[in-house]
Amino acid sequence: MNENSEKTRCLIIGSGPAGYTAAIYASRSDLKPILYQGIQPGGQLTITTDVDNYPGFPEGITGPAMMENFQKQAARYGSDIRWGIITDVDFSIRPFIVKADDGKTIIAETIIIATGATAKWLGIESETRFGGHGVSACATCDGFFYKGKTVAVVGGGDTAAEEATYLSKLCKKVYLIHRRDELRASKAMQNKVFNTSNIEVIWNNLPIEIVGKEEGFIKSVDGVILKNTVTGYERKLEIDGIFIAIGHKPNSDLFVGKLELHPTGYIKTIPGTTKTSVEGVFAAGDIQDMHYRQAVTAAGSGCMAAIEAERFLSK
Ligand code: NAP
Repeated sequence: MNENSEKTRCLIIGSGPAGYTAAIYASRSDLKPILYQGIQPGGQLTITTDVDNYPGFPEGITGPAMMENFQKQAARYGSDIRWGIITDVDFSIRPFIVKADDGKTIIAETIIIATGATAKWLGIESETRFGGHGVSACATCDGFFYKGKTVAVVGGGDTAAEEATYLSKLCKKVYLIHRRDELRASKAMQNKVFNTSNIEVIWNNLPIEIVGKEEGFIKSVDGVILKNTVTGYERKLEIDGIFIAIGHKPNSDLFVGKLELHPTGYIKTIPGTTKTSVEGVFAAGDIQDMHYRQAVTAAGSGCMAAIEAERFLSK
């Protein structure tokens, strides 16, 4: 132990609904948890518009407001919430040794991983080149810049449907580009898309290049080259901006080789629990959930993780 080392009964990594719920339960169990918020404090819900399916909010609530409430509730019971990133973990000995980017070494008796997932990109070069200049993965953050303009959303899941619906309220026209001939989104979200007059779905198409003007650092998108996935036909669609909404990658890089992961990168947990392959390390929320990925299921599993950590400690 030195002045940069701290001991805790419970370290929580991540600050989405799973991390904060784990913090609420762990602090109420007197575990005095330390929570590191990670790169995106509040997690994915901070870049979501209205949350209409979280029980207890009959009028709905915005994602950022909801996460602010989660944080306040966790802080109210004494969770030590810190802005920072965990950079290294050693699960080979107990208590576990964890390093953070604020220079601290945390010696933790239990760890709850709630690092969530991050938006995926198409992987085409022009997407990076025009990133932040017409290419975005967050309609709530950037939709405002396209007021009255024409945009495209790529994807066929709930995120794409939600982004398209949100943008339809700001933009003149929204194209929803999907690589297949049916959406993966829930029926309720599909109905919203189909019943919105300024959303047009372009089926069986994939963006292969984003095009626009470039003068030094000044860049703007004016179109996307689409390739028909059935016929191979290519054409340019004129747009002012494009939103990529094709799913998420679990934020598990830190745990590769340290915990058992699924081939897709999600942390393996013992079914019906949040227990990972290392005793005393628990995983909650999207980092271990490739099926439901809802705020309410993440919060539920955060609660489970805190209860399991508390039971583990009192063994
Ligand atoms: P998702 O359900 O995995 O859908 C991803 C979509 O992107 C799919 O339609 C997929 O096409 C397409 N796609 C994937 N890779 C692609 C690529 N390289 N090029 C082109 N298209 C690609 O992801 P999501 O929409 O982010 O949703 C994730 C989870 O969060 C889901 O469980 C969803 O229900 C949930 N969610 C819920 C809400 C809500 O309830 N308010 C909002 C957002 C998300 P294919 O269909 O062909 O595979």
